[in-house]
Formats: sequence, structure tokens, C-alpha cells
Amino acid sequence: MKFVVVGGGAGGLELVTKLGETLGRRGRAEVTLIDRSRTHLWKPLLHEVAAGSMDIHAHQLDYLAQARWHRFTFVLGALTGLDRARKEVLVAAVRDDEGVQILPERRIPYDTLVIAIGSESNDFGTPGVRENAFTIDNAWDAHLFHRRLVNACFRANFADDGRVFNIAIVGAGATGVELAAELHNTIRVLAAYGLKGFNPETQIRIRVVEAGPRILPGLPEYIAEETLKTLQGLNVEVLIGERVVEVTSDRVKTATGRDVPADFVVWAAGIRAPAVLRELDGLESNRANQLVVRNTLQTTRDDDVFALGDCAATPWRGKPPRGQDQEAGKTVPPRAQAAHQMSSHLVTTFKRQLAGKPPKPYHYRDFGSLVSLGHYQTVGTLMGFVSGGTLRLEGYLAKLFYISLYKLHIWALHGFWRMALDTLARMIRRQTEPKVKLH
Ligand SMILES: Cc1cc2nc3c(=O)[nH]c(=O)nc-3n(C[C@H](O)[C@H](O)[C@H](O)COP(=O)(O)OP(=O)(O)OC[C@H]3O[C@@H](n4cnc5c(N)ncnc54)[C@H](O)[C@@H]3O)c2cc1C
Repeated sequence: MKFVVVGGGAGGLELVTKLGETLGRRGRAEVTLIDRSRTHLWKPLLHEVAAGSMDIHAHQLDYLAQARWHRFTFVLGALTGLDRARKEVLVAAVRDDEGVQILPERRIPYDTLVIAIGSESNDFGTPGVRENAFTIDNAWDAHLFHRRLVNACFRANFADDGRVFNIAIVGAGATGVELAAELHNTIRVLAAYGLKGFNPETQIRIRVVEAGPRILPGLPEYIAEETLKTLQGLNVEVLIGERVVEVTSDRVKTATGRDVPADFVVWAAGIRAPAVLRELDGLESNRANQLVVRNTLQTTRDDDVFALGDCAATPWRGKPPRGQDQEAGKTVPPRAQAAHQMSSHLVTTFKRQLAGKPPKPYHYRDFGSLVSLGHYQTVGTLMGFVSGGTLRLEGYLAKLFYISLYKLHIWALHGFWRMALDTLARMIRRQTEPKVKLH
């Protein structure tokens, strides 16, 4: 039996690791992971990489190494198409930085296929975004943004002319507001490492521009209110009800006619699944390019093709959490916790499949939401812990739960002891490293 998973992200990598450890190790199945990248970085860390509070090299995981440790095969290359009649995945050729071909186009056979290629920023066709804005979709984007930021600080320090740098973050979802707070902190730490001619208090202006009536749409009001208070306390300007209609090289223009000065623009205003899913050999997709799946995570038109995580439109029949509108209850939200749950569900499904049993339906369980504003504040809600109700959290306890999400991912990939040792090693290493990435 050949299980092929495309996309080694929050959901896909956990899935192949668990399948390799169980079915692969016992020789009951061949497990293959296809990813366009050579390394994995847990996506919720990207804003920290962009701000410089996290070094990607310390957190990236090599797919080849993980494959060797957990009995699956890794295939490098991007998904470009699907041949459902022949049950083959089409994978693009791979080229090096100079454009020389390393690997040709390939066809990878499968019996059961899982598509888990996540999502990317949605610019909604807004003019100038592609040319003038950064997106933080992957480790490389985040790294490039950080390098430009450090360069700007160096330049300002050398020029010593008091020029103000304007940063505009478009979209006040979790990514946008978390990035604003991280940037506020890391720029100050960076300046403290000897940039004497540069004063972040007067020379950096961070603005978050949101089209909707409030920040953190889709999250409970309580989280939005606490987050707004913290951002305002940090002097981050939050513009509400301002839909961006154009991004130029030095400003962001909104539908109300407002011109927001911007030397750096980060676009974090929404997501969609990659365009390759739009017409994937007749599979059903929605307007956000997500593959439409049934509650078994099987695509609507092919029982042997499953989808999970951000790239799947998965029915959510549960009651939406208090404070969220009914619309949010339609499909499972694009979250790491959902991708994690779906990967666990599919491990059970595939074991049942090998035993000749039908798949069971997947039910999303919302454990709540947490928003981390760097070391300034963490705020959120946990669901179902206190007699089935909602528990409001903030401060140190909220931070602990926030960090535990990543620790659970590391646990799923490496086991408990390696996760514990890794945590200890990082605590020790932090004492001997700069607090932010300085290059
Ligand atoms: C800055 C930021 C902060 C976030 N914070 C949180 C949070 O606090 N809590 C939370 O629950 N969620 C958070 N999220 C959302 C969370 O990261 C996603 O919901 C989650 O990563 C989705 O998992 P996935 O497995 O579907 O996709 P991903 O983790 O995005 O993985 C997709 C994988 O597919 C690969 N891929 C893409 N295209 C192709 C292709 N054509 N061919 C082959 N491979 C391909 C990619 O290289 C990647 O490895 C955050 C997201 C961002 C950007």
C-alpha cells in the first residue's frame, strides 16, 4: 500500500512521521512525503523569524533526516498536477540557484493521496501588492523581510539624520498584530546593540491597517479588546475600517482616500490555498482554491484523495465558539491546531483502511485561541476546560499555553524526551546568544 502526502507542514509532516513510525516501520505500507522545500519550519513561528526574535536555522528541520529517522521517503519538488486515472502525482523539476536542473519532472504513484500544501497570502488582486509589499508565507520570505529591516536600521544609524521609517502592516488578524508587537520589541533590542545614531522611539512608526470594523476578526471580542489596549500602549497605530486599494513604493492607499506612509509594507490581509489546487484533475475546489472535502477528509469526487489543513475546506458542524459569528462555523478555520487534529485523525483512518474498515467522520475540536504580543502580553481563551465553558487567559499562563502549541508539534515529530531535551538545550543556549538576530 502506497501512502503519499504532499506538503510537509504543520499537518503533513506530523502525518508522515506517525505513518512511518507505525505502518512504515512494520513494513505494512510505503510512506512518501513530497515537499517543494528541503526543510520544515512550523509556520506560526514565521512572524518571529521576520521580526528577528527567532533564528530560522535553530528551528528548521531537514526532511531527509526526519524521513530517515521515521521510515518514510522524501521527494523534493512542487506539486504541479495530478493524474487520477493512473493514480500518479506530478512533481515539478528542481533547479539550483543558477537555474541548472537538479531533478527532472517526475510522476509519483500512490494508492492513497493526502494533499496538505497549506495556504498563502491573498492579495485580492490589489494593485501594487506583488511589487511593493512583503508577504510572510514561508521561511525565505520571513528571512528576507528581516534582512531588509536590519539593513534599514543600519542605514538610519549611519545617516544619523533622524529620518522616520514607516512600517505598515495590512491586516489585523493574528499574524498582523503579533508581527506589530514583535517588531516593536526587536527593533528596540537591535538598537540597544550599539546603534547609537538611531532612536526607535522617534524614528520607527508602526501602523496596522484593517478593513473590517475591529481587529482580530473571527476571534472573541475580549481578545481583540485586550490586544488593542496593548498595541495602543506600545504606540502602534491601529487604523480600522480602512480597506487598502493600492500599495505603492512609499505608501498604502485606502478606499476612504487615506494615504498611509510606508517604507515597508507587510501584507497579512487574508489567505487562500495555492492556485495549483484550482483545477487539480477535476477535484472540487472553492473560491479560495481549497479542496472541498467531506467530513471524512476525503475529497468530494475521489475517495482515494484526501486533503487536510489550510488547503482543505472541511465542514465544521460544531457550534461556533461564543463571540464568533455563525459564518465562522461553516468550515474549519485555518489553524495549526486543526491541521494537527486532522493528521491524527488520518492516521486512525489509514489504519482502519488497512484493516478493511470504513473511515470515521472528523470533528474539529476548538481548544480556543491565543494571541502573543511578544514579551508584552499574551491573551486568549481556552475552551472546554472549565465544565465545558470558556476560560479567559492572559499573562504568563497564556504564554505557557501559547508555547505549548509548538512544543506539542515538536513532541509529535520527535517524541517526548527529545522535545524535553531540546527545550532544555534552547534555554541554556539563550544565555549565550544575542536576544535578537543581528544580521
Ligand atoms: C505568522 C503566522 C502565525 C500563525 N499563528 C498561529 C497560531 O498561533 N495558532 C494556530 O493554530 N495557527 C497559526 N497560524 C496558522 C498555521 O500556521 C496554519 O494554519 C498551519 O500551518 C496549516 O498547516 P498545514 O499543514 O495545512 O500547512 P503548512 O503548515 O502551511 O504547510 C504546507 C506545506 O506544503 C508545502 N507546499 C506548499 N505548496 C506546495 C507545492 N505546490 N508542492 C509541494 N509542497 C508544497 C510547504 O512547503 C509546506 O511545507 C499562523 C500562521 C502564520 C503565517
